[in-house]
Amino acid sequence: MKPLNEYKKIVILTGAGISAESGISTFRDSQGLWEQHKIEDVATPEAFEKDPLLVWKFYSMRRLQAAKAKPNLAHLALIQFAKAHPDVHLITQNVDALHLRADTTHSLPPICMHGSLHESSCSNCGIVYLDDYAYFNELGDYAPQETELCDSTQRSHQHYLHHYNLEYRNFIPLSPCCKVMIRPHIVWFGEMPQHMEKIYHQISHCDLFVSIGTSGVVYPAASFLAGAKAAGAHTVCLNKEPIPQAAFIDEFIEGSATDIVPRFFRI
Ligand SMILES: [Zn+2]
Repeated sequence: MKPLNEYKKIVILTGAGISAESGISTFRDSQGLWEQHKIEDVATPEAFEKDPLLVWKFYSMRRLQAAKAKPNLAHLALIQFAKAHPDVHLITQNVDALHLRADTTHSLPPICMHGSLHESSCSNCGIVYLDDYAYFNELGDYAPQETELCDSTQRSHQHYLHHYNLEYRNFIPLSPCCKVMIRPHIVWFGEMPQHMEKIYHQISHCDLFVSIGTSGVVYPAASFLAGAKAAGAHTVCLNKEPIPQAAFIDEFIEGSATDIVPRFFRI
């Protein structure tokens, strides 16, 4: 491939593999279970309808876990690279907010296609609020606390949910817009991924597409390599094992993210 600085528009897609070394586990690691609940029973609109407290206990636990994790060398390498290159775009399947926390200079805002743990939304109108509260502790007891997934800039934003002026029902804040329960801003099973129009636009206009730490089995992200290839981009895959899209990959680099990502981006 050409030297990186000769590419005009670079699109990067990241998946769970970039956060694994930060200690973020996927639910494939736990046979798809959280305590005795199937993930499908706490991550669907129907589950929220039936038992919003159970859903919020699950996402409070995930916010607490995400806050304990730290961005790793791979997250940091992408930020360093973006500072030196004028046209880099980041799409992530991850909800862990680690790209955001690595980016203290706001150089590479991620497009979070599956939502993010640092946001909640109105369950009626869908307005998104910055919200990094865990409402329950890891024992499931009501114990609201900031998790520090949001930084000070986000906390001073008008859409940050400041808890001193909210109304609550059954421990859960009501949205300032419609006075209904807020929900985690996460794409649940059966829901459409977000920002797809913007994502397809980026993919169809890039000349280098780099997939990092994605399993290649979760759609629609699994189709992005083919889309980039069809648009004429050079395609690279960085992952700890081969993925099913070999036919659309010009270059495959095998290894752990913290090793191969900084090397690939020459950071
Ligand atoms: Zn609303």
